[in-house]
Amino acid sequence: MKHKLKMLLRELVARAVYHTPLWRLCDLLAPRRLVILAGHCVEAPSNDFLPPEMKIREETLEEILGWLNRRFEGVRVADGWRRLGEGGGKSLFALSMDDGYRDNVTHLLPLAERVGVPVTVYLESRPLDEQRVNWTHKFFWLVERLGVEELGIRYADETEVEPDNVRTHQVLAEGVEVVYRWKRALKYDFDPLERDRVIDSIFTAEGGDEAALCEELYMDADGVTALAEAGWELGGHTISHHVLSGLGEEAQREEVQGGRQVLMDRHGVGCESFAYPFGRRWDYNETSVEVARDAGFECAVQTHAGACTRTSDAFHLSRWMIDDEAALHLIAAEACGAFELFRRVGLDLSE
Ligand SMILES: [Zn+2]
Repeated sequence: MKHKLKMLLRELVARAVYHTPLWRLCDLLAPRRLVILAGHCVEAPSNDFLPPEMKIREETLEEILGWLNRRFEGVRVADGWRRLGEGGGKSLFALSMDDGYRDNVTHLLPLAERVGVPVTVYLESRPLDEQRVNWTHKFFWLVERLGVEELGIRYADETEVEPDNVRTHQVLAEGVEVVYRWKRALKYDFDPLERDRVIDSIFTAEGGDEAALCEELYMDADGVTALAEAGWELGGHTISHHVLSGLGEEAQREEVQGGRQVLMDRHGVGCESFAYPFGRRWDYNETSVEVARDAGFECAVQTHAGACTRTSDAFHLSRWMIDDEAALHLIAAEACGAFELFRRVGLDLSE
């Protein structure tokens, strides 16, 4: 009930500031802020097989960016964080895109130039450097070809673990949102090395070509150069997109610092800011923060909704995840400071 009331209040506040000039009053009352949007892909043939929550249509994104750009100033993430510290001026917004997909170059670059906003892209280094993709893409590729049920059966056949323990049967029996649930189980509950081995072997048996999949899905070195020349920020996102909290300190350092080194040395990327892979609070820990700071990043972003102000922690910057279902009135309420005003009295309407 409490949750329902909160959601109702959230809708009312957001609609009020979106449809009336009340947003101006909130903007004046709330501290200067930076709202960072986070997505992955703009819908394009190259990312057809990825799930809908990783994609946004050009029209939807252009409407969101246009609304924000008419009221606030669009910046790159690291610049925005620095500018917050300087004080004064309009509030800020940034668009960030994770992983480094090809559509960011082919579809997002012209859109961003049309709207007139810079973008920050967080790059995994392995797709660029070794033409290899992380397990999630092979998983989605297999789900598209085999269906989740058949994939589950083959997965259970491939492992020596009892099916009950790997939860395959349980996950399949639940029936709803099965792909999402299974991806979550693979992400957190399975041994990462064993998971990668099994996914790889099914992927290969199905005729999957990792380098070809990588080339189709991810941008190449020329794409990175084109974005850098357009004035975009290119940040770090590890080598291979592991859940950092599941790794020891040494392995985290290799992923975070190693990824940054490759991007800077071989691709001339600036790497001022960093995005924790998956980005939920439980996906990284204090070691990840330390490692990111030691590696030389100025700030780091996660994926819990909220606004950043000058008192925010530089290594826990909030971001609003966007896909084609993104609600502009909610983003508007965060961007104009309405949600920040509620947060200051102890009520978080962002999530
Ligand atoms: Zn990512």
